[in-house]
Amino acid sequence: WTEGTVTDAENSLTELAALAETAGSQVLEGLIQRRTRPDPATYIGRGKVDDLGAVVLSTGADTVICDGELSPSQLRNLEQRTKVKVVDRTALILDIFAQHAKSKEGKAQVELAQLEYLLPRLRGWGETLSRQTGGSGRGGGAGGGVGVRGPGETKLETDRRRIRHRISRLRREIKSMKTVRVTKRARRSRNAVPAVAIAGYTNAGKSSLLNRLTGAGVLVENALFATLDPTTRKATASDGRLYTLSDTVGFVRHLPHQIVEAFRSTLEEVAEADLVVHVVDGTHPDPEEQVRAVHAVLAEVSADRLPELLVVNKTDAADEDTLLRLKRLWPDAIFVSAHSGRGMDELRAAIEDRLPSPAVEVRAVLP
Ligand code: GDP
Repeated sequence: WTEGTVTDAENSLTELAALAETAGSQVLEGLIQRRTRPDPATYIGRGKVDDLGAVVLSTGADTVICDGELSPSQLRNLEQRTKVKVVDRTALILDIFAQHAKSKEGKAQVELAQLEYLLPRLRGWGETLSRQTGGSGRGGGAGGGVGVRGPGETKLETDRRRIRHRISRLRREIKSMKTVRVTKRARRSRNAVPAVAIAGYTNAGKSSLLNRLTGAGVLVENALFATLDPTTRKATASDGRLYTLSDTVGFVRHLPHQIVEAFRSTLEEVAEADLVVHVVDGTHPDPEEQVRAVHAVLAEVSADRLPELLVVNKTDAADEDTLLRLKRLWPDAIFVSAHSGRGMDELRAAIEDRLPSPAVEVRAVLP
């Protein structure tokens, strides 16, 4: 279910499938339900739950991913009916952010968002127990208070209390990290090995391009790059210079509100790059709008002053008129197809062109 037309729903579902693949899932089948509003009990409605159950059985799927945010009870009901794990859009996006967060602040932001999401969804045998014990268990746990907790406290309540503690701690830590970051950025030195960040919407083809540019499967392993994460690979320029290419967390439409902050701080790591390769999907109905949205966010994380190389991908599938229009609009953009390989040499050359030249250290030698 989504607000808007069926085409909106289809676009949104395509994006969801791309997100699921990014998170490491294999997508088997998509199901769209048309409703005026979500069903309070099961989100998709009773009839559709049966269809979903049938699809789960016939495909052997082990997870259902729902394009929207499910209430805790909708999630539980769907899991009970389909007998498989149910994940909503928010949880999926959080999972991807967790994979992409590198900085201490990014990790803390993602963990905070994950815990805030988890808290109302925690459940277990303790829940029934506390309901049965009534006042002493449930009331005491929720209200806190010294001396109320103790042997009578259920596992669920202990968990909730721990999570709340962790949440307030994370909030305090994030606050102090913000101050540190501002000072750090001001005196940051350039990277020893030039770093190129690939940015753009989810599904624009960022990881396909990364694979094309570095040769499939060349994961960073040598000592020089030991601190880098799995989304970073090394590349060698034609003149032998080394540089790194990183896939950044993709932009997503309708980002759930709990994770806007986490997204920002994960993306802030882009500001540490020497060059941003901004990938645009040439087959998207409104590429200009996507570019504007990406620029707006890059500006918010102070990554807008970095050199940028605009790359229009999927030229094999894009419409000729659109490509002509985009060429006029962005004369400096490189037009490529990660699938056919078209434009890749040009792209490599353009990246190398924009890499910072090796730093020259000048030292005064005193007599
Ligand atoms: P990311 O989310 O930006 O990393 O995008 P992916 O690299 O995962 O690609 C998203 C989808 O677009 C996948 O289904 C790719 O197969 C497809 N795709 C990527 N590059 C091209 C291309 O050059 N042409 C076409 N037709 N499809 C592409």
